[in-house]
Amino acid sequence: MAGTILEPGQIEAAASTPPFTLLPPRNLFALRAERFDKLAADHALGDYLRLLAGVCRAQQQVLDNPPQLAPLDERRTRECLTHDLPPLATDTLVREGHWLPMLDAWLDAFEAPANNPSVTAALDQLRQADAGQRTAWAIALLSGQYDSLPAALVPFLGASLQLAWSHWLLQLDLTELKEREDQTLCPCCGAPAMAGVIRHLGKVNGLRYLVCSVCALEWHYVRLKCSHCRSTKKLDYLHLEGSPHGVKAEVCPQCNSYLKQLYLELDAAGECLSADLATLDLDLLLAEQGHLRQAPNLLLAPGGGE
Ligand SMILES: [Zn+2]
Ligand SMILES: [Zn+2]
Repeated sequence: MAGTILEPGQIEAAASTPPFTLLPPRNLFALRAERFDKLAADHALGDYLRLLAGVCRAQQQVLDNPPQLAPLDERRTRECLTHDLPPLATDTLVREGHWLPMLDAWLDAFEAPANNPSVTAALDQLRQADAGQRTAWAIALLSGQYDSLPAALVPFLGASLQLAWSHWLLQLDLTELKEREDQTLCPCCGAPAMAGVIRHLGKVNGLRYLVCSVCALEWHYVRLKCSHCRSTKKLDYLHLEGSPHGVKAEVCPQCNSYLKQLYLELDAAGECLSADLATLDLDLLLAEQGHLRQAPNLLLAPGGGE
């Protein structure tokens, strides 16, 4: 804003305008790991959640000490921002393959649990796959074609994709990103949201942000509106009685899909990715009622569970 002098009233207005996007903190994966460890205690899926804590710890380790990746194309980034296109479009970048060193780095960092042969087999399969095969699986995962890759690979491949995209995201200057209404896909990478979060306290108090399933950017999206078909008709909010995780599913009768929402007011230390995977019982219930989950969580193969 060089050269712009704001009058006092404008300063107040600028200060109270909620930001369109919120970047994840640099320790996002460490926070997720911590949450998974906490959630694992007294949880029916404790071993599964502890495994995911390890997945996230390895992500953080690599994010803190990333391998050398080809630099982002600055000109393309600028042009995308100017033309309202996602600068880190997954469909383009996944094919270019610059994320692949992240997979090797993550595989090196991850401490596989002893006595879990199916995890060991999945990690071996990823290690042995060549770049072409890894890319084909990644394209399948990012486009939701879960039949085109082995379910056991999903959390590990997904972890390295999240890692690459968050690494890139944290290098970008998004001040030029303009707020658009009805933004159902991530304005930075074009991926669908994993969940919504109802923020608590500060100037974002009570606002809903959608959380990107790939790069972890959060962007503002009005409440009481389906994030899939944009309908505002009679959305329903379902949660399991006694569920301690601050999560409700926003169910849309128009398109029959739902998106989980984390209410920070109910769980101030909550985090979307771990809260989502700690409440798979809610997904089972919604599936039984015939509702569709559209939101991907890259650490989860739909139907695979664990
Ligand atoms: Zn994104
Ligand atoms: Zn809908």
